[in-house]
Amino acid sequence: MKLTRRMMGGLAAAVALTLTMPAFAQDKGAVGVSMPTKSSARWIADGDNMVKALEAKGYKASLQYAEDDIPTQLSQIENMVSSGVKYLVVASIDGTTLADVLQQAHDAGIKVIAYDRLIRNSPNVDYYTTFDNFQVGVLQAQSIETGLGLKDGKGPFNIELFGGSPDDNNAFFFYNGAMSVLQPYIDSGKLVVQSGQTGMDKVGTLRWDGAVAQARMDNLLSSFYSDKRVDAVLSPYDGLSIGILSSLKGVGYGSGDMKMPVVSGQDAEIPSVKSILAGEQYSTIYKDTRELAKVTVDMIDAMGTGGQPQINDDKTYENGVKVVPAYLLKPVLLTKENIEKTLVDGGYYTADQIK
Ligand code: BGC
Repeated sequence: MKLTRRMMGGLAAAVALTLTMPAFAQDKGAVGVSMPTKSSARWIADGDNMVKALEAKGYKASLQYAEDDIPTQLSQIENMVSSGVKYLVVASIDGTTLADVLQQAHDAGIKVIAYDRLIRNSPNVDYYTTFDNFQVGVLQAQSIETGLGLKDGKGPFNIELFGGSPDDNNAFFFYNGAMSVLQPYIDSGKLVVQSGQTGMDKVGTLRWDGAVAQARMDNLLSSFYSDKRVDAVLSPYDGLSIGILSSLKGVGYGSGDMKMPVVSGQDAEIPSVKSILAGEQYSTIYKDTRELAKVTVDMIDAMGTGGQPQINDDKTYENGVKVVPAYLLKPVLLTKENIEKTLVDGGYYTADQIK
C-alpha cells in the first residue's frame, strides 16, 4: 500500500502520541490506600502525595480516609480487598486490629505495606515505610534540652510529658526516644515532673486528640502549678501542642513576664509553623510526606516488576509476629531559626501559606 501524505501525517501523530503518553496509561493495577483521618493536615498530604506518585508510575489509586473510626477503616480495607486491588498501603488507626482483614488480603495475593505506622500482630505485613520514629523522640527532647539550656548546666526546671495514642506503635518509639534524652536529667534532678506522671500508661493521649491534651494540661496546671512555673512540655504532635499552648495561654503564659514554656511538636503543620514563627511553640519535627510516598511507591513498583524493594532496617520493627522489613526516612528538627527556610526552600509550603 502506498502511504498518502495524509496517512503519513496521521501515522506521525500516532507515534508522537505514543511517545508523549504519560506513564499512567500503562495501567499496572490498582492500589488501595487507607488513611486514618482528614482531621490532621499531614494525612491529607500523605494521601495526595501517594495518589500522585502512584498515578505517575501507572497505578490506579483508591484512597480512603476513615475519620479515626476503627470499624470504618476495617470495612474500607475489606472493600479494597474485594474490589481486586493488587497492593494495600495502610496507615492504621489502631495498629492491632487489622489481622483478620490482612489475612483476607494475603489469601487474595495482595501485598501489604504498613505506611508510617506499624501494623501489629499480623504475619501479613510485607513491608513498612516510615521515619526513624525513635529519632523523632530524640530530636523533640533535644530541642527541649537546647531551649532550656540544660547542656549548659542550667536548671532545675519543671517539665510535663505528653505521649501519643497508645494504639499507635509510633507513640512508644517517640516517647522512648524522648526519654532516652530526658531521663538522665530527671534522674539528676535537673528536670522535675511535678505531677509525677511518667510512662505511656499515664501520659498517652488516645487518638492523638488535641482537646484531650488541652484538658489534661488544664488539670496539670491547676493541680500542680498554682504556685510554680512549668518550664517545658514534651508534646509528640503539633495537634497536641496547639491544645497544650491554648491551655498555657489560658492561665497567662506567653504574656507579661510569664514566658511560654518550651513546647515540642511534630509534623510541621501550618498552625504550628505559624506558632513557632510567632515565638510560641518552640519546635516541630518535619517529615517530608512526599519522600514517604515516593519510597512507598518505589517499593510497590519493585514488587510489581519482580525486583527487591529497598529497605534499610531489618531489626527494629517487631510487630508481635515477625520483624517487618522497613525503610526509615530521616526526620528533621525545626525551630524558629530554620523553619521558614527549610519548608519554603524545600517547596513544602509557599511563603504565603505560613504567613
Ligand atoms: C505519626 C505522626 C503523627 C501522629 C498523629 C503518628 O503515627 O507518625 O507523624 O503526628 O501519628 O497523627
